[in-house]
Amino acid sequence: MRALQLIEDRKLEIVDIAPPPPPGPAEVTVNIKAVALNHIDVWGWRGMAFAKRKMPLTIGAEASGVVDAIGPGVGNLLPGQLVSIYGAQTCGLCRPCREGRDNLCEHVSGVHGFHLDGFAQEKVNLKARLLVPAPPGVDEIGAAVAPVTFGTVEHMLFDNAKLEAGETILVHAGGSGIGSAAIQLAKKMGCTVITTVGSDEKIEKAKALGADHVINYRVDRFEGVVRKLTKKKGVDVVFEHVGADTWAGSMLSLRRGGRLVTCGSTSGVSTNLNLMMLFQQQLKLLGSFGCRMENMADAMQKMARGLVRPVIDTEVGFDDIDTALKRMEGRDVFGKIILRVN
Ligand SMILES: [Zn+2]
Repeated sequence: MRALQLIEDRKLEIVDIAPPPPPGPAEVTVNIKAVALNHIDVWGWRGMAFAKRKMPLTIGAEASGVVDAIGPGVGNLLPGQLVSIYGAQTCGLCRPCREGRDNLCEHVSGVHGFHLDGFAQEKVNLKARLLVPAPPGVDEIGAAVAPVTFGTVEHMLFDNAKLEAGETILVHAGGSGIGSAAIQLAKKMGCTVITTVGSDEKIEKAKALGADHVINYRVDRFEGVVRKLTKKKGVDVVFEHVGADTWAGSMLSLRRGGRLVTCGSTSGVSTNLNLMMLFQQQLKLLGSFGCRMENMADAMQKMARGLVRPVIDTEVGFDDIDTALKRMEGRDVFGKIILRVN
C-alpha cells in the first residue's frame, strides 16, 4: 500500500509499504480517507532540531477514515463507519485520559505525523478509543478537520478562553485553517469578530465567514485598528497562533482583564513580555494545545447542524504535497488543504 514519507528535511517520497496486520485487542484497522494539512506538517517538513523522531516518517497529523476491521473487545465501532482520528497517541490510563482530557496525558507517546508515523497511508491500525464516530451529515472532509483544526479551536475558545456571547474577539490570520474555524464558531455564538488577513482578496472571504471587521495587517497596524473599533477599550479575547510577529500588538489589543489564548507560533517561538502590562491590565494568558476528545464530537455536531463548515482551499493528491506545503509556508492559502488518500 502507498504511504507518503519524509525521508529527510524537505524531502518527501511516495513509498510502498506493507499493510498493517489484523487489528489486535481494542484496535481497529482504518482505511484513511482524507488528511488535513496543518502548520505542524510544515514545521515537520522544514525540520525541527528539537523534535525527537526517526526518519523515514509517514506524515499527516489530522485525518478521517472508514473502519475496515475491528479487533477483539471493540464494542463501539462497526466496519464501514466514518471516524475522526485523534492526533496523538495517549495512554488512556492516567487521570487526564480517564477524564477525556487526552491533551494533558501524562504518558503521551507523541503526535502522529510529527513524532510518530502519521495518517498519509492507505490503512492504519489504531486504538479504538482514539476514534470519534462522525454523525450523519458530516463527510470525510468534515471528519478530517475535526481533530486538530476544529477541535483545537473549540478547546481554545470554550474550555480555555471561556468565550461568552456578546464579547468581542480578535482572531489572527482569518485565512488560516484554525482562523477560519474560529471566526465561524465565535460568530455563531453571538460574538463580534475582528480578524486579520494578509491580502485584500481575503477580506471578502473572511467577511463571508461572519467576520464583522477585517484588517489587512500588511496595510494597517492591527492593534491601532482594534483600539479604534473598540473605542479604545480593547477586545475581550485575542485568538493567537502567529506568535513573535503579532504578540506585542495582541497584548495591546486586549481590554483590561482580557484573555489571550494561544496554540501556536508560526512566525517564531520567542518574544518579549511586558510584565507591567500583564499585571496592571490584569491580562490572562492561556496556552492551549490539542483538544479533548469531546471537542471533536462537539465540532462535528455543529457541522452536522450546519452551524459551521470546513473551509477548503484545495484538495490534492500525494504527488502535489510539495507545492501544498510551500503554499502553506508562504501563507498563500485560504482555509485547509486536504490530501486525498483513498
Ligand atoms: Zn494518559
